[in-house]
This record gives sequence, structure tokens and C-alpha cells, in this order.
Amino acid sequence: MTQTKAFNVEGQLSKLDGGLKLTAFKQLSTHTAISSMEQCKQYIIPLQQHIGVISQPLVKNGERVLKGQMLAKPGDLLSAAVHAPISGIVTDIKQHTIPHASGLSDLCVFIENDFKDEWVVRHPIGDKYNQTSSSNMRKIIRDSGIVGLGGAAFPSSVKQTEMNIKTLILNGVECEPYITCDDVLMREYAKEVLSGADIIGHIIKARQCLIAIEDNKPEAINAIQAAIDSDGTDFFRIEVIPTKYPSGGEKQLIQIITGKEVPKGRYPAELGVLCHNVATAYAVHRAVHQAEPLISRIVTITGHGVEQPQNINVLIGTPMQDCIEHCGGYTDNSDELIMGGPMMGFSLNADDMPVIKATNCLLVTTKEESIFKSKHMPCIRCGKCVEACPVRLLPQQLYWYASSQNIDRLVEHNLFDCIECGCCAYVCPSDIPLVQYYRYAKTTIWQQERERSSSDISRERHEAHQLRLEKIKREREEKLRKKRELLKKKANDTANNKTETTNDSKQSVIAEAVARAQAKKSERNKNSESK
Ligand code: SF4
Ligand code: SF4
Repeated sequence: MTQTKAFNVEGQLSKLDGGLKLTAFKQLSTHTAISSMEQCKQYIIPLQQHIGVISQPLVKNGERVLKGQMLAKPGDLLSAAVHAPISGIVTDIKQHTIPHASGLSDLCVFIENDFKDEWVVRHPIGDKYNQTSSSNMRKIIRDSGIVGLGGAAFPSSVKQTEMNIKTLILNGVECEPYITCDDVLMREYAKEVLSGADIIGHIIKARQCLIAIEDNKPEAINAIQAAIDSDGTDFFRIEVIPTKYPSGGEKQLIQIITGKEVPKGRYPAELGVLCHNVATAYAVHRAVHQAEPLISRIVTITGHGVEQPQNINVLIGTPMQDCIEHCGGYTDNSDELIMGGPMMGFSLNADDMPVIKATNCLLVTTKEESIFKSKHMPCIRCGKCVEACPVRLLPQQLYWYASSQNIDRLVEHNLFDCIECGCCAYVCPSDIPLVQYYRYAKTTIWQQERERSSSDISRERHEAHQLRLEKIKREREEKLRKKRELLKKKANDTANNKTETTNDSKQSVIAEAVARAQAKKSERNKNSESK
């Protein structure tokens, strides 16, 4: 592959609008290598771990499944398959609380581990990916259930359908405090990360791959640079970017690297760019070279509320409490369990929920560092939130409209451009949990949209049903009319036939009588002549 120059403005990285310099707390979990966990007795696999439509189960209660077996297929184009992380028996398929900001339940497959670790038959495509078409490669990615592992969980195969991509940006920025899973992945699996990026590059026909890493990760930078050097091609290049939150947001990162802003409501592909997380690239490598679907990921277990913070390689479906126990358990002053980081994560009210594909971090805070305050003060219109917003929104206005549920104004003020980075809430002197207001407002609007579109669908269905009934009625009436006409015609024909027959018989009677009279007359004439 040939290298082209990065197209950032005059070779300079652009500055991030707004954003914050935050204390990182990264060293808490980076002092040890990635560890592996003992397998658990039971795994809980939610069927909705991704953006899009829920997957459709392929297994039944009581069925034995093998490690890597597909448990549920994608429910639609925008969906992702899920696989068994172990071999064992499906003991239930039922609703269970899933780790989601909504706190709601969803359908999950429960598997009892048989501890045999028996894999399905696998056929890795390996280096042949270079001779395999993009569409076949996308199918492999789709069948492997790979989603964006930076937290968004967007189905990767869908993202890779974008065409005319010049540059693949590999996102190794990991700008949120505490989270270090991408950092340690790059340190320990740099070659595999590049291998995955090369495969993605082949699928989207990218000309270059820029690996973006924040300057607070020197070990990761060195490891990736060493892997680039041993790769020997000029396809890869590192872009070291200044540490500032939220530089790792997709649109923010693209702007920093290219100097171009992704227009509102548009996709990065329109700038010839596609962005993937480094962990997603690693998952692609495993899918292609080991035929291993996405059944595990690296998760940072951290915070001052856990005894031994570290990064662990976790099978998807592992109960969170087992991960915490693997890390020495909770400290005495532990308080909240948060999935994700302190800025974008959300609080969980139980730890029996499973690790899912989007779980990059489990953060346990202490009472002293409680992030989500129960009470807040009124807005004093200080404007600090506006300065901090990297998307140039008006957070305090959004807050007013969200509290008064003024949906029209929220939409006008671009609520859906909010990336929920939490910068506004972080700087707010009144401790207003602004992001919670935005999330709630977004969910309400989506709900109303769904209800409206489902009532539109119901109305359309009802109208279509009515039209169908009317059509059937019209057709039936037409049939009856034709039948009646036919019967009438038949009756007329019969009547006509009868009349003709009657006339004919009258004529023949007359003819016969005339004939008889003529015969009698000629008889009489004959007799008188003989006399
Ligand atoms: S930072 Fe907080 S108090 Fe200040 S304007 Fe924004 S919402 Fe209001
Ligand atoms: S959470 Fe939304 S409104 Fe607040 S700073 Fe981030 S993007 Fe702006």
C-alpha cells in the first residue's frame, strides 16, 4: 500500500475546542501486565450489546453449546451476532438487568459452564485475507460479532461498508481518566493491533493508517512504533496528540488530525476518513487469524474502591462481581460501581450484571470521591459549561429546555450533537448533573419518536387493512353482479327459447290443420268427380 501525506492543516495538529485537562489516575491500573481470570460457573450473554436491532437467538433451553458457537444471529443489517464464551449448557433464556444507563432488563442467554473449554470447529482465513474480497471479509467480521470496542458498540461490518476512504484512523487516544485497557493493549499486543488495522485497511481500501495516541502513553507509543518499524511498510504512521479530554471522541479526533470538521448529521467517510478503536482492530485480527469471534475483551478494573486495580482479559458474560473479586474485592470505603469512566460512564446499582462488549472499564469510587452528587444548586448562568463544551453547544440552555421538557427547543439547540462527554457537568459550580438531563431528554425524544412511528405504522396497517377489506368487498360485489347478469341472461335465453318453441309449435299445428283441410278438400273433389 502506498503512503500519502496526512492532510492535517500545514502539517500541524488542530486544537480541540473546549475540553478539559483532567487528572488521569491511569497509573492505578497500569503497573501490572494484563491478567486472565479463572472461568466462572455461569455466564450471562445479553442479546442486545450493540447499537441497532437485538440479535435473534439460535439456541434453546437445555442445549449444549461450544465455545465460540453463535448463540444469536444479527437481527437486521444494523445488528451483531453474539457467541458462547465457554462450552456448557444453556440453562435459561430470560430477561435480566443489563449494564445500561437506563437500568432496564433485556433478553439474556444463561450458560452453565462445563469447564471443558471445547471450541467449535474453526477455519481461520489467516493471511489469505489479502486475496479475499471486501464483501467476504465484511461477512467474516459480521459473523464474528465485532462491534466498536471504544464504548459505542456500533457494528463494525456496517462501518466498513463506507467507500472512498483514504485514511484509516486507529483511535488509541483513551482520554478519559482511569481507563487504561487500550493503553495496555497497545503495549502488549502492538503487532496484533497493526495486523487488525491492515485487515481493515484492506477491506476499505485505505491508503494510509494513522494511529492516534495521546502523549501521556509513552510505552504504548514506543510499542506501536517498534511494530511499525518491524512491519517495514509505509502504510502506518503514529500521530501523537496532546493530552486533553475528550480528544478521543470520533469527531474531535478527526478534527484534531485533519483540521476538518465532520458536518452536522454527516459521517466521517464524507471526509475520506474512517475511525476504528485499537481494541476493535485487535478483535479483527483474532477473527481473521484465529477464527475467534468476539467473546472476550480487556477491561480496566480500577478506582480507589477496589483492592488491586488492574486490566484483565474478561470473557463476555462474566458477572462483574467475579471481576471485582479477581482484583481483590471492594475496599472498606468503596461506594459506587460505574461502567466506563468518571466522565462518560454511568452508575450501576448491582454487580451481578455481566461484562458486555461495551464494557471498557469498571470503576469503583470511594465515598470521598463520589462523582454523582445527590443534590445540586440552581444554575447561576456563569457560562463555564459553554467554555468547556467541545461541540460548541449551549449546555445551560439545553439544561433549561431538558428540565422543562421543551422538545422543540432541545432539537433546535442540537441536543443530538451532544457527545455526553460530561465536560459541562464537570466544570459546573452548581454540581448540576447536566449529562443525566441530556440522556433523559434524548431517551424521551427517542421513545416518543418510536411511539409516533409505531402509531404511524399501526395507522398505516389499519388503513391498508381497510383498503384490503374494501377491495375484497368490491371484488365480491363485482363477482355477484356478474353472476346475477349471467343468471339473468340465462333466464332470458331460456324464456326466448320457450317463446320460439311455442310459436313454432303453433305454426306447426296450423300447418297441420291446413294440410288436413286441404287433404279433406282434395278428397271431396276426387269423390265428386268419380260420381
Ligand atoms: S456551568 Fe452550571 S451554573 Fe454555570 S451556566 Fe452552566 S449549568 Fe449554569
Ligand atoms: S456533555 Fe454535551 S453539552 Fe456537555 S460539554 Fe459534552 S458535548 Fe457539550
